[in-house]
Order: sequence, then structure tokens, then C-alpha cells
Amino acid sequence: MSLSREQMLVEMGITPIWVLRDTGPCAPAVKAPEEVVAQPAGRAPVPEQVPEAAPAARPAPAVAPRPMPPVDNLNWPELVKQVAECRACPLCEQRKRAVLGVGDVNPDWLFIGEGPGAEEDVKGEPFVGQAGKLLDAMLASLDIARGNRVYIANAVKCRPPGNRTPEAAEMAACWPYLERQIALLKPKIIVLLGKAAVHAVLHDDKSLASLRGKRYEHAGIPVVVSYHPAYLLRNLPDKAKAWEDLLFARRLLREAATPELPF
Ligand code: URA
Ligand code: SF4
Repeated sequence: MSLSREQMLVEMGITPIWVLRDTGPCAPAVKAPEEVVAQPAGRAPVPEQVPEAAPAARPAPAVAPRPMPPVDNLNWPELVKQVAECRACPLCEQRKRAVLGVGDVNPDWLFIGEGPGAEEDVKGEPFVGQAGKLLDAMLASLDIARGNRVYIANAVKCRPPGNRTPEAAEMAACWPYLERQIALLKPKIIVLLGKAAVHAVLHDDKSLASLRGKRYEHAGIPVVVSYHPAYLLRNLPDKAKAWEDLLFARRLLREAATPELPF
């Protein structure tokens, strides 16, 4: 296999450029999930100039939530169809498209983020904005790419309005899809990007700083925890830690691929 220039530098122990460089303008709209505290439902901050009129009654949703049919036995095309039509939680009300995921359906790596943002909601693909560009640079350092040994998914498949953090109940509602995705994809390593993904898969709400650097498991698959790329865009020094996490994940992957000899 021929290695990219970046990958050769990485193999020689040279830090990739995305770790050192400010990867571009950090638009204020890019949320940094580690910093975001979930707002209780219906308590969005009120803009200053709003007149003191009685709040209008919330219009009835165009598509009302309805129960999720069983997911456990779905094959991939059935899963794709069911997610596209899903109305199992209130996030269905304002989404444009449900975003199942993107990539190689026979992957070594599975990266899990939080949920679609505005661009992802329109395009139907995860991580297509600024955070996605950084994620692509991170993948390139490992000589992988979306579609090449990698699948990318999210804790929730529909965009939380205003890019807020998904609520625990929304992540719980969407979990059967992620669980089925993992079962069908059978990745060799799972990387959880940010607190929402950690909550969804490991059901742990401790700080990322305390969870990084350790091996966890889901259904026998090794799992590692790292920072969300949107957080890294605002916290440049932590990119070095994210790079350490990726190297740790790659070590676990390589160990799994070359089991110890029996002598
Ligand atoms: N952030 C995420 O967590 N997922 C996306 O798909 C895009 C941004
Ligand atoms: Fe269904 Fe998940 Fe979308 Fe909720 S977030 S409507 S459970 S696909």
C-alpha cells in the first residue's frame, strides 16, 4: 500500500499539520458540545426586543411523533428506509432530512458524533461543515477517509433545532438505530467524538478529560473517547490530545488485527 505524504510523516512520528494549525475561521455558529449545557425544553433564551405580547400557542407539528417499529432485525436497506421516515421523537418535527450516516459499510473505524447541524440537515450527510473538514483532516492523518475503511454516524439522526445539544430522551429514542448500525457495520474500533456520543454509547456523563485514554467496549468492540471536532475548533491546544486519542485507537485496532501468537 502506498502511503500519502502526510501519512509517511505520521509514521515517522511527525505531528500532522491539523494539530498545529488553526484550521480556519471559527464561525460563532459552530457549537462546541463540551461547553454546551442542555437547556430544559422550551427555555430557549429570549431575544431582547421581543414585545411583551402573550406567547402564541405552539403550532401543531406537521408530522406528529409515532412509535418506532422494531429495529433489531432490520437489514441495511430496511434501516435506511425506516430512519428516513422515522417519527419516533420530537426531533422529527423540524428536520429536513434524517441523517443516518456516511461511509464504508464494511469499515474498520466507526466515528460517532452528536447530531446533524444545519448543513447536514440539508445535505443528508454527517460532518459536512467546518467540523467535518477538521474530521476529514484527522482521518487523512490516519490514511483513511469517509468511504475508505471509515463510517461516520451520530448519536441522533435528526437535527436538534438551533443546533442545541440533543436531550437524553432524544438520544435514548434514537439509540436502537445506532445500536443496529453498529451491529450491521461490525467496525473494529469505535471512536466517540464528544459528550453526546459518550452518553449514547457508554451511558457515562463524566468529563471527557477523565474518560480519554482508556479502552471501553460495546458489544465486544473496542471503544475510545475523544473530543468533538467542533470543540477542537475552539480549543486548539486540545488538538494534540485528540491526535493522541487517534493514535491510541489505531494501536487498539492494530492489536486486534494481530492477536498475540500462542508461544
Ligand atoms: N456535528 C456532529 O456531531 N455531527 C454532524 O454530523 C455534524 C456536526
Ligand atoms: Fe427518529 Fe432518531 Fe430522528 Fe428521533 S432523532 S425522529 S428517533 S431518527
